[in-house]
Amino acid sequence: MTDQSSYDVVIVGGGIMGSATAWWLCELGFTGRVVVIERDTSFARAASTLSASSIRQQFSDTLNIRISQFAADFIRDFPARMGDARVPPVTFNSFGYLYLSDSAAMSDQLLSAHNVQVAAGAGTRLLTPSEIAADYPFYDLTGIELGSLNTVDEGYWDGGTVFEWFRRLARARGVDYVQAEVAAILRDGARVSGVRLADGTVINAGVVVNSAGTRAATLAATAGVTIPVEPRKRFVWVVRLETPLSRALPLTIDPTGVYVRSDGANYLAGCAPDPDPTVDPDDFAPDPAIWQDHVWPALATRIPAFERLRIVTEWVGQYDYNTLDQNAIVGAHPDISNLLFLNGFSGHGLQQAPAMGRGMAELILHGGYRSLDLTPLGFARLTDGTARREHAII
Ligand SMILES: Cc1cc2nc3c(=O)[nH]c(=O)nc-3n(C[C@H](O)[C@H](O)[C@H](O)COP(=O)(O)OP(=O)(O)OC[C@H]3O[C@@H](n4cnc5c(N)ncnc54)[C@H](O)[C@@H]3O)c2cc1C
Repeated sequence: MTDQSSYDVVIVGGGIMGSATAWWLCELGFTGRVVVIERDTSFARAASTLSASSIRQQFSDTLNIRISQFAADFIRDFPARMGDARVPPVTFNSFGYLYLSDSAAMSDQLLSAHNVQVAAGAGTRLLTPSEIAADYPFYDLTGIELGSLNTVDEGYWDGGTVFEWFRRLARARGVDYVQAEVAAILRDGARVSGVRLADGTVINAGVVVNSAGTRAATLAATAGVTIPVEPRKRFVWVVRLETPLSRALPLTIDPTGVYVRSDGANYLAGCAPDPDPTVDPDDFAPDPAIWQDHVWPALATRIPAFERLRIVTEWVGQYDYNTLDQNAIVGAHPDISNLLFLNGFSGHGLQQAPAMGRGMAELILHGGYRSLDLTPLGFARLTDGTARREHAII
């Protein structure tokens, strides 16, 4: 039995962020002891499990584009990257994302994001309604002014397999996974000394990483730190059409905010509720009225083939939503150098895990980023007023 009372790194939350960090620490040669503490090792309600698992480069923030470009590279070479013969290739269907605009304001936003994306090397194209209709004849484009499409390294990827192998290989390489709830981060002035579990056990730590997803703000508060991250419900349906579409459906973001994409032989749709309040982190209750009154009508209006469908499955997940600027909060607290944050992914975190895990491991190993500089997503902006808004939030 190994000593479980003291670790060099304590990672709170074993979702894809915590597990990516653990795997990258091993991969980059960290020789200290690492533990991942996870309250529910079934991960049944973790965002990493309930995700729509899509990947895109159509962001308004250059850094988010770079982060997803790294993810695309990483998953293309996944078995080689993971360095284990058992690791399978990751399915990656680049059918793209198509943002649709029906107003001048929305078109302006697509145009300015397009400029950022092209400068970052993304394959985004702006399309008129007739250009969209030529390639995708199944849309009803009434009222649509402009579309923004990228079919290079955008679409669906199997994030579940990536999550699984980060976790399995971190364990295989010596990281401990402990099923327990962290009740508090123990702070001693400008340092944290460890964590206290719900059963009272204290685990000492050289570094504590907060990767607690929707519970990140509650956990941070135990160390006297406020972060603007709250749980927000997101609804997902998988449907089968009576008559399938003539080609793969890009992840289409309708001006109503409803999105839909191909999902194998089915189609996956989702949306945010309106209004969109903070909720209890255990609230996963469905709301059939959202489908009936909002999502289905929007889908059938945009793609008439969606008039005739059946629901195959549906679920509710939660975003760890950053109310300041809908961007990740990554890195050390400015005044507590051994307390690290990996929070606030606001619905685009699954694809960010490869870059985020690497960045956290670099911070822990070297005290700074060595590959992609994630400093602009650091904690400092929460206090110095430099919000870094991501406009392309789905
Ligand atoms: C419906 C939905 C659709 C999405 N679609 C996409 C998408 O298409 N593309 C994309 O890139 N991203 C998407 N996301 C976002 C993405 O899934 C998340 O950003 C990502 O999974 C966050 O990973 P995480 O490890 O931070 O959080 P989680 O996976 O939620 O893991 C956090 C873990 O911390 C544990 N924990 C919390 N508090 C404690 C504690 N005190 N002690 C011990 N353990 C604790 C929890 O049990 C949980 O397992 C979607 C999310 C949802 C909900």
